[in-house]
Amino acid sequence: MGPAVIRSLRSQLFVATAIVLLLTMVALLVSLAGVERRWLQARNAESLQRTAREVALVLRDMGSVPADTLAARLGAADAAGNCRITLIASDGRVVADSRADASTLENHAARPEVRAALAGGAGVAVRHSQSLGVDLQYAAVPMFGAAPWAVVRVAEPLEMVRALDRSLLRVSALAVVIVLLASFLLAFWVSGRFASRVGALEAVSARIGAGDISVRALELPADELGRLGSALNRMSAELRDRLGALERERDEREHILAHMTDGVALLDATNHLVHANASFVELLGAVGPVSSGAPFAELVRAPELEDLLTRARSGQNTVEADLRLWSPRQRFVRAVATRLDAERGEVLLVLHDLTEVERVHRIRQDFVANVSHELRTPLTSLRGYAETLLDGGLEDEARREGFVRVIRDQAERLQALVDDLLSLAELERPEAGLRAERFDLRALLARQVGLFRAAADRAGLALVLEEGEPLELAADRARLEQVVANLLDNAVKYTERGGITVRAGEEGGRVWCEVEDTGPGVPPDDQSRVFERFYRVDKARSRDKGGTGLGLSIVKHILALHRGEVSLRSEPGAGSTFRFELPRT
Ligand code: ADP
Repeated sequence: MGPAVIRSLRSQLFVATAIVLLLTMVALLVSLAGVERRWLQARNAESLQRTAREVALVLRDMGSVPADTLAARLGAADAAGNCRITLIASDGRVVADSRADASTLENHAARPEVRAALAGGAGVAVRHSQSLGVDLQYAAVPMFGAAPWAVVRVAEPLEMVRALDRSLLRVSALAVVIVLLASFLLAFWVSGRFASRVGALEAVSARIGAGDISVRALELPADELGRLGSALNRMSAELRDRLGALERERDEREHILAHMTDGVALLDATNHLVHANASFVELLGAVGPVSSGAPFAELVRAPELEDLLTRARSGQNTVEADLRLWSPRQRFVRAVATRLDAERGEVLLVLHDLTEVERVHRIRQDFVANVSHELRTPLTSLRGYAETLLDGGLEDEARREGFVRVIRDQAERLQALVDDLLSLAELERPEAGLRAERFDLRALLARQVGLFRAAADRAGLALVLEEGEPLELAADRARLEQVVANLLDNAVKYTERGGITVRAGEEGGRVWCEVEDTGPGVPPDDQSRVFERFYRVDKARSRDKGGTGLGLSIVKHILALHRGEVSLRSEPGAGSTFRFELPRT
C-alpha cells in the first residue's frame, strides 16, 4: 500500500468548491449558449419575416413586370440587403429568384416555410441550400393581390447569425472566466481562513493534550468554529480545575505520608520500591533519599520482612509481624504487609516503630523488679525479727529492745520508700501541676538548713548557708522544699567529715542554688546516672544510710516541671556540688 496522500483542509475545501464552481459555470455557459443561439435565430426569423412582408408590399403591384426585369430588381435589392429573395407561385413553382435562375430551380411546394405560407401563415426554416451551398434561414409570407406569385420568401445566410452568436458566446465566456477567477480567489481565501482557524484550534487542543492548560482558543467569530473554540476553553478550564484538585489531593496525601511517624512503602511484584515516605527510609536507616525503583533488598537485609511480603502476596491479604531491625541501630517494629492488587502483585508495607514502646515497657519491668527488690530486704528483716521475737526473743530482756528498734527502722525505711514512690508517681502523672506562689528562696534555704542542723551536728559536720540578698521567685514551694531537703539529706548522709555549704544567687532571670559537701564524691562514669531511679553508686552504703535510690530522680523531676535543671560537679574524694537552677517566674 502506498503512502496515504494527506491533503490539507484548505486544498480539500478549495478543490471541492472550485469543482462545483467550474461545473456550474460550464453548465451555465452551455445553457446560455443554447438560449442565445435560439434567441438570435428567433430574432433573425422575426426580422426576416418583417423583410418578407415589406418585400411582398413592394412587389404587390409589380405583377406585370417582365420576369427578367423582376429578377434584376430582386438581384439589386439582394445586393443591397444581402438577402436572397424568391417569389413562388401557388403551385410551388419558382417565379423569380434574386440569386438563381428560376427555371433551374425545382418546385418549392414541399419546403416547410413555403407550405406554411401557402396555407396562409408565415413560415420559417433553417436549411442547407443545395443551390447556394450554404446554411440559410428562410422566412416565407403569403402574397395577397393579383401577382402571379403567391409566396414571397426571403433567405439570409445563417453565417451572420452564427458570427453574432460566436461573439456573444465569447463575451459570455469571458464573463464566466472572470466570475470563475473571482470565485476561485474568494473560495481560496475562505478555505484558507477556515483551514487556518481549524489549524489554530488543532494547535490549541494539541497543547492542551500536552498538558499546557494555560492556552486559550479564539472564540470569535461566534460560528461553529468559534463555539468549538469556546468548548475547548471550557474543557481546558475544567481540566485545569480537575488537575488542580488532583494536585491538591496528591500534595495533601504526600504531606500526610511525609509527616506520618509510621513508615509506609509501596512495593511492586518484584519487590522494587514504588513509593516510600521519609519515616520508612529513616526506620530502615537508609542514607539519603531513596529513589523509586530501588530494590527493597538493597535498602535493608531483613529476611523476615521479605518473608512477610511473600506471605502477603501469596493469598493472605494482611499479614503482620513484630520484628527487630538492626540497621544501623536496633529497632523494634511492627510490620504490616497488605496486598493491594493481586494481579499486579503490589504490596503496601507499613512499619510501626515500637522502639520507644519497647523501651518504656522495659523501664516499667525494670522498675517493678527494682521496687520488689527494694521491698524485699526490709520485709525479710521485719519478718525475721518478728519471728525471732516470737521464738523466745520477747523473753530476752537484754536484746528484745534492739530487735524492736530494728523492726521500727525497717518500717521507717519501708515508709520512706513508699513515700518516695508516691512522690514520683505524683510527679509523673501527666496532669501533674504546680502550685506556684511567690516566696523567698533564701528564707526557704534557711528553714531547711535549720531542720538539718541537728543531724549535721550529730555527724560532726559544719552546715553553712552563705549570706545574701533575698531571692524572690514564683514556684511550687512545697516541692522546692523537697528538692532542698533531698540534696541536704544526701550531703549529710554521705559526708563523713568536713562540712556542707549552701549558697544561692541569681543570674540572667534565673535563680540557682548549690549544695556543696566534702564527702566521697561521685566517680565521673556515675555522675550522669545518679539521677536515674534506684541508681546508687555504693548500694550497701546507701541502704545503710536508709537511702531509697529515688531522692535525686525526684529532684530532677521537680526541676523539670519548673523548666529548670539539676547538675552535679564532683571529684571523687574531693566532695560533690549539686546545683539546680530555675526561672524566676
Ligand atoms: P539515695 O536514697 O540512695 O541517696 P539518691 O537518688 O538521693 O538515692 O542518690 C543516688 C545516689 O547518688 C546515691 O546512692 C549515692 O551513691 C549518690 N549520691 C547522692 N548524693 C551524694 C553526695 N552528696 N555525695 C556522694 N554521693 C552521692
